[in-house]
Amino acid sequence: MANPNPFKSGLQQLAKAAELMDLNEGVHARLKLPKFEMQFGIPVKMDDGSVKVFQGYRVQYDNSRGPNKGGIRFHPKVNIAEVRALAFWMTFKCAVVGIPLGGGKGGVIVNPKELSEGELERLARGYMRKLAHNVGPHRDVPAPDVYTTPQIMAWMMDEYETIKGMHAPGMITGKPLSVGGSEGRGYSTAQGGVYVTLELAKKMKLKKGAKVAIQGYGNAGAYMAKILHKKGYKIVAVSDSKGGIYNEKGLDPVKVEKYKMQNGSVVNCPESAKSLTNEQILKVECDILVPAALENVITKDNAGRIKAKAIVELANGPTTPEADAKLHKKGIVVVPDILANAGGVTVSYYEQVQNSYNHYWTEKEVLAKLEPTMVDSFNAVWRAMEKHECDMRTGAYIVATDRIAEAMMARGEA
Ligand code: GLU
Repeated sequence: MANPNPFKSGLQQLAKAAELMDLNEGVHARLKLPKFEMQFGIPVKMDDGSVKVFQGYRVQYDNSRGPNKGGIRFHPKVNIAEVRALAFWMTFKCAVVGIPLGGGKGGVIVNPKELSEGELERLARGYMRKLAHNVGPHRDVPAPDVYTTPQIMAWMMDEYETIKGMHAPGMITGKPLSVGGSEGRGYSTAQGGVYVTLELAKKMKLKKGAKVAIQGYGNAGAYMAKILHKKGYKIVAVSDSKGGIYNEKGLDPVKVEKYKMQNGSVVNCPESAKSLTNEQILKVECDILVPAALENVITKDNAGRIKAKAIVELANGPTTPEADAKLHKKGIVVVPDILANAGGVTVSYYEQVQNSYNHYWTEKEVLAKLEPTMVDSFNAVWRAMEKHECDMRTGAYIVATDRIAEAMMARGEA
C-alpha cells in the first residue's frame, strides 16, 4: 500500500480537534494552508569537479505566535508533502508547550552519507545562500532534524552571518556550544520524551523495570534508550535503518551505541539475543513502544498487532490516522509527537533566548526549565483529553489550537 500523504494526515488530526472544540471556521481555514513555501535548486561543486543540483525546500507554515521554527532534514525521501506536514506539526508543537514560536521546516533530497565532508559543507552553505533573505532570528529559525548535525548548523550560521555582515547566532539553533549552542540541546528531544514518559508511567501505574522497545537509534532514539535505562526501564529491543535487535533480559544501550559507532548499525551487536526487522520491532512484547525514526510506520495494517500498553512518539508523524483509531479502540495510549518530542524545540527556544541575551545557562538551569514545561504540558493535554473524552493526540491539538486561535484573533487575522 502506498504511504499516506503525511500532510493529509495532519489535516485529519486537526479536523478531529476542530470539531470537538467547535473551532472558529476562519482559524481552521487559515490552518489548512501554509503561509509561505519555498522550493529551489542548490548547485554544489562535487569533489570530482562536476556540479550537482540538489532539490531544497523550506515551508513557513504559521507564525501567528512567533517566528517560524523547525529543523532541516537531509534525506533521500524528502518531498514537499513531508516538509509541509513537518512544518504543520511544528506549529502545533510549539503551541502545545507554550513557547512563543510558529512552525516551519526545511529539507533537501540527499543521502548525506554519500557525500564527503567538503561536499556536505558546500551543500549546507548553498542551502543557506538560497534562504538567507527569508530566515533570521525574528523571521524563521532552522535547526537540526533527521541526518543534520550541529556542525551543519554552524556552517549555515557562518554563511548567513557572512551574507548579512553581522553576528546573529539566534538565526539557527542546535549549534555547537562553541558558537552559541545551548547546554542540553543535544539530548533534549529524548529528555523531554523521558519527562512525559515518567508522567505517563504514573498515570498508568507502570512498574519499575517496565519494558521498552525503540525503533530508530539516531540522536533521539539512542538518548531515549540511555536515559530510560538509567531510570530503571528495561530496553528490550532497538533498531536502526538496517534492522533491529532483541533481548528479553534487556540491552545495555551504551554498549549498543558503541557497537553502532564502530560497525555502522546495531545489527549483530553481541548484546542481542535475536535479530528483528523494523516491522517486527513494532510488535514485540513490551510496555512502551517508542517510534523514533520516520513517519507512517504505524499503519492500519500493523496497529492491530501492537502489544505495547503505550506509544511515545519521538518521531514526527509515525502513526497514521487509521492506526490511531485502531489503537484508541484497543486502549493503547499514544503520547503524540507534538507533545512527546517537543523537548528538542523547547531547548532550541532556550538557545535563542540565551543568544539574544549573549549570556549562557548551565545544563542544570536548562533542565530545571525543561522539566516543568514538559510535565505541565503533559498534564494540560491529559486534562483536555479527559474533558473532551478523546485520545491524547486530539487533546494536544485542542490545547495547541486554542492558543494559535487566540493569537490569530488578537491579530485580527481570523
Ligand atoms: N527537528 C526537531 C523537531 O522536529 C527540532 C526543531 C527545532 O529545534 O527547531 O522538533
